Amino acid sequence: MDLYEYQGKELFRRSGITVSDGKLATSAAEARAAAEELGGPVVVKAQVLTGGRGKAGGIKLAADPAEAEARAEEILGLDIRGHVVRKLWIEKASDIAREYYLSVTFDRGAKQPLLMFTTQGGVDIEEVAASSPDALIRLHVDPFEGFQPWHARALIYGAGVEEPDEQKQIAAIAARLYEAFVEFDAMLCEINPLIVTPEGEVKALDSKFTVDDNALFRHADVAEMRDLDAYPPEERAAREKGVTYVKLDGEVGILGNGAGLVMSTLDVIALVGGRPANFCDLGGGGDAHGVVDALEIITGDPQVTSIFFNIFGGITRCDEVARGILQALEQMTIGHPIVVRLDGTNAEEGRRILAEASPPNLYTEPTMLDAARRAVELAQ
Ligand code: GDP
Ligand code: MN
Repeated sequence: MDLYEYQGKELFRRSGITVSDGKLATSAAEARAAAEELGGPVVVKAQVLTGGRGKAGGIKLAADPAEAEARAEEILGLDIRGHVVRKLWIEKASDIAREYYLSVTFDRGAKQPLLMFTTQGGVDIEEVAASSPDALIRLHVDPFEGFQPWHARALIYGAGVEEPDEQKQIAAIAARLYEAFVEFDAMLCEINPLIVTPEGEVKALDSKFTVDDNALFRHADVAEMRDLDAYPPEERAAREKGVTYVKLDGEVGILGNGAGLVMSTLDVIALVGGRPANFCDLGGGGDAHGVVDALEIITGDPQVTSIFFNIFGGITRCDEVARGILQALEQMTIGHPIVVRLDGTNAEEGRRILAEASPPNLYTEPTMLDAARRAVELAQ
């Protein structure tokens, strides 16, 4: 689960990492009021779950409340790579002497958290990694050993921070960021830029915070931060019904049992020249109720023109799924062609059940590849 900047900053603040005062606003009038309360110049920041907001015109300085209102007017409703701005974070503006970068993430290859630090912050970190890799200090933390003072020194001296007071603050922030990473079961904690003010204060000017979905059960307060409005309507509906669904850009609606199978189904659709419209995992069950829920969500996407049902019977028996499909088709009318591939436990019986009922628009294929071809053909 990705957090908005303002939510990530709240967790930073709780972890003892310095951030600027700010207020949330959802209208230009609220932005003005927030600026009045904060006093002095502010920065008006689009709250969307994507980076590079500055370049997209989503971050603007305002000298006074009237300007904050005007900038808010411009930013609200802005589409930043498919994310429409509905919330603003109005923050006391900071003077910036230098912009650094600090993050903790997972290095899955090394099976360890990875600290990254550079004094070339404020820009895309991928750019720094490509153009001046030596300037980006990468350091693993042994999870059993935890963050140690030497990690901080390696980052600071490696990146060439010379000012002692700055060194001390960065060391403290790195330790706290690692603590936050562990405490909140994060996948990513990133500060870009980590700024040094002309007075020498080091603080987090931005936040990217991703929490592991699987750990949300033990962070009720973080789980509550989820903003359902930020998800496409299909994904919202799926979440409510308990269906695992991710919207994609193509035309072939996908339904399968098991995340791995669905992933390979997406690949096979692409292989035969089609484009999947979604990822949808039916999970272990294949009862009519689950099938209806999933089909409702898949067909709710106007881009879908055909549906590929890919079932591998393991514990789930194909005959049960076949009955589920038929019952679902009785409960709802679907205009799109549906291609079904059944394999595994009781596959033959499943195919026989479908063949006997032979509902219009339903095609059965014996293999995944044949079925994918047919679904892509029918999508045109
Ligand atoms: P991003 O573009 O989505 O990464 O958003 P950031 O929060 O990182 O802001 C982008 C840039 O706006 C920063 O790198 C800063 O250069 C600038 N910026 C953000 N807040 C302030 C501020 O309080 N004062 C000044 N002078 N610049 C700011
Ligand atoms: Mn940033």
